[in-house]
Amino acid sequence: MVREILLGPERPRFTGRVAYRTTYPAARLGDLKLDDNCKWWGPDRHIVIYYVKPRREEIYFVTSTPEPDFEVESWSARGDLKVLCEAYAGFHPDVRAVLAACPEVHKWALVERDPLPRWGEGRAVLLGDACHPMTPYMAQGAAAAIEDAAVLSRCLAGVKADGIERALQRYELSRKERTSRIQLTSRQNTWGASGPIPHGSMGMMRGMSRSQRLENEMGSERSSTLITHHYRPSELAISAFDRGRPQRL
Ligand SMILES: Cc1cc2nc3c(=O)[nH]c(=O)nc-3n(C[C@H](O)[C@H](O)[C@H](O)COP(=O)(O)OP(=O)(O)OC[C@H]3O[C@@H](n4cnc5c(N)ncnc54)[C@H](O)[C@@H]3O)c2cc1C
Repeated sequence: MVREILLGPERPRFTGRVAYRTTYPAARLGDLKLDDNCKWWGPDRHIVIYYVKPRREEIYFVTSTPEPDFEVESWSARGDLKVLCEAYAGFHPDVRAVLAACPEVHKWALVERDPLPRWGEGRAVLLGDACHPMTPYMAQGAAAAIEDAAVLSRCLAGVKADGIERALQRYELSRKERTSRIQLTSRQNTWGASGPIPHGSMGMMRGMSRSQRLENEMGSERSSTLITHHYRPSELAISAFDRGRPQRL
């Protein structure tokens, strides 16, 4: 709503792909033990599967699946498990077991926008997906929103009423370059979405001893990965608005 008031209406672009996503109790998998962080992909789709919770009690998965006819923008749309299982029918038995044991799943149309020209005006400013929505291929949307909140609170700390406008400008200046870069990198991080998979171009993923020898099984390839995020808002630079150069606070 605020974005539309600031910048006018603009529809996001549908990428033609959807994410099926859920968590469920790992006990539903019986004796099957999965790799800790695993991404499986075929020529035009992929699925990421990992345990969540310290005792690995739950399974999480998220897919990127071509479905050019599903354009519903919603956080509560249900996915059809039969359609999902069919979409990954040629994948490794671990993937099929995870999908077969899944009790229910939600579904998101993956849409995107370009970086916005500005985030605020006067005493109003945006944060999170409202100003930098991104595809989930770098798993950074929520992380970036949390960083925004950390930097915004630091920009506002100790500021009096007459300094708020300037503090909000400083916040925007501090965050926009970084989040625009993540937005655009995530958009490009679609290897595996079409064409051959470039071996070795794993982008954000680290610690992939097994990925270096990609296995080719039943039409899908897998890499066992450890995804490393660097969430350290306390170390994020806040631009020194007055001097126009970055400064660590
Ligand atoms: C498939 C998928 C996978 C993802 N995976 C990851 C991941 O691995 N890592 C990661 O960091 N991020 C991930 N993300 C992105 C992440 O979910 C979002 O970036 C994050 O939720 C954005 O948080 P937000 O608070 O900005 O917006 P939201 O989470 O959208 O919160 C906005 C809230 O405002 C409410 N609202 C809207 N309008 C109004 C109104 N007028 N009045 C009152 N309330 C209102 C909404 O109901 C909502 O609760 C993923 C996203 C998707 C779709």
